[in-house]
Amino acid sequence: MTQTQIACPRCKQMITANVEQLFDVTADSQAKQRLLSGQVNHARCPYCGYQGRLATPVVYHDNEKELLLTFFPP
Ligand SMILES: [Zn+2]
Repeated sequence: MTQTQIACPRCKQMITANVEQLFDVTADSQAKQRLLSGQVNHARCPYCGYQGRLATPVVYHDNEKELLLTFFPP
């Protein structure tokens, strides 16, 4: 998981968010859990209290099932 500086969507202050874009369940069996749990790509602003998902495209790779999916946020 990568700590990334982003601008808060509400107050535009720079905040730190956990951003993870590649979920490779072949290499990391916990990746699917993290993706489904909503703990990643989630921002919480200490200045204004904003909380929400980040609009980050996500790549999901499962070598055993030969799955390669890309999610784009709506
Ligand atoms: Zn904010």
